[in-house]
Amino acid sequence: MQPQRGCSDESTPAAVLPRKAWHESWTLCTLSTCMDWHVSQQRADMMTFDPTEHPHRRFNPLTGEWILVSPHRAKRPWQGEVGETADTRPAYDPTCYLCPGNKRASGDVNPAYNGTYVFDNDFPALMPDTPGDEPDDHPLFRIQGERGICRVICFHPRHDLTLALMTPAQIRPVIDTWAEQTLDLGARDTIAYVQIFENKGMGNSNPHPHGQIWSNERLPREVSKEDNAQRDYFAAHSLTLLADYLAEEQRRRERIVYANAHWTVLVPFWAIWPFETLVLSNRPTGSIVDLDDAERDALADALHHITVRYDNLFQAPFLYSFGIHQQPTDGQDYPYWHLHAHFYPPLLRSATVAKHMVGYEMLATPQRDITAEQAAMRLRDLSDKHYTFTSR
Ligand SMILES: [Zn+2]
Ligand SMILES: [Zn+2]
Repeated sequence: MQPQRGCSDESTPAAVLPRKAWHESWTLCTLSTCMDWHVSQQRADMMTFDPTEHPHRRFNPLTGEWILVSPHRAKRPWQGEVGETADTRPAYDPTCYLCPGNKRASGDVNPAYNGTYVFDNDFPALMPDTPGDEPDDHPLFRIQGERGICRVICFHPRHDLTLALMTPAQIRPVIDTWAEQTLDLGARDTIAYVQIFENKGMGNSNPHPHGQIWSNERLPREVSKEDNAQRDYFAAHSLTLLADYLAEEQRRRERIVYANAHWTVLVPFWAIWPFETLVLSNRPTGSIVDLDDAERDALADALHHITVRYDNLFQAPFLYSFGIHQQPTDGQDYPYWHLHAHFYPPLLRSATVAKHMVGYEMLATPQRDITAEQAAMRLRDLSDKHYTFTSR
């Protein structure tokens, strides 16, 4: 049988008709065999994979986990939460337990510090003299004493600053303090890992610019995953996983937000949080302690530029959890470890609409809507001058 033009002949097998003819006749055709064919043709069109349209999984080689990306969902209506976004902090707050000269809950009084200030956490999650026994030997009830030291680091005496409002020259002493603390805590026999982090604007976090340093005797969960992945990759390729990844990102240039001579800030291919970024050392070194003068200055510059862009995104103080991942401090060699930092910010559409890891994400796998490439483009296109400076 010869194919007919269009699909007006119900007896014509759909498979023998030219595809274009079926498309032309779409609006005219009501015959059931034709409808079936059109539906199957639409499905065939769907088969051309488009990462900006089609749900897909992406693999995180640092953790060995998959995440779900649903780019089409970014178009759906959303009833978000509304919060307070104005930043009206004074330069000094007499009620703040982190401001210079103020008394903390422990009764200790902060000195009149001028730069950074570090003290042992008054309510630490870990303590140095915990017994290390395993009091229950049942394999389904494993329990271990865990020793550690938790400290607080004030980034600056001024209550009204943030990393985004500090200059690179003001951020540099923070980096030096992180390195000093890594060296000091990591030198202890009972400390195998030093986790530097900042929880900005979330939960009951004090608004004074500060972060925390928790150190303990065993690798924490996220670090352990990255340790395994980086070790296996190095064994197979004789290069750090993140050096190879960075080279490929530099070649593709789809997700890089900011780069200087020593650091690259990008939205990782496998990002979970809407505007998550990875701050990567160009040189594959394992510890913040190893950074030379120029690399420390460049890290201050990179942190300044990404935090300014974050604030500019919704013209409001941006929430995030930030942390540095570096090699363990148990005295072993770690040629496979590649120093980097993560920003995990929850904000999605505005200063008041945040993503929460709930439902499917708690029970199945993390999921995001806008793609990593779209997020990188939005961050890259923002000004590197803080919005509160440009509007003055
Ligand atoms: Zn303060
Ligand atoms: Zn990491």
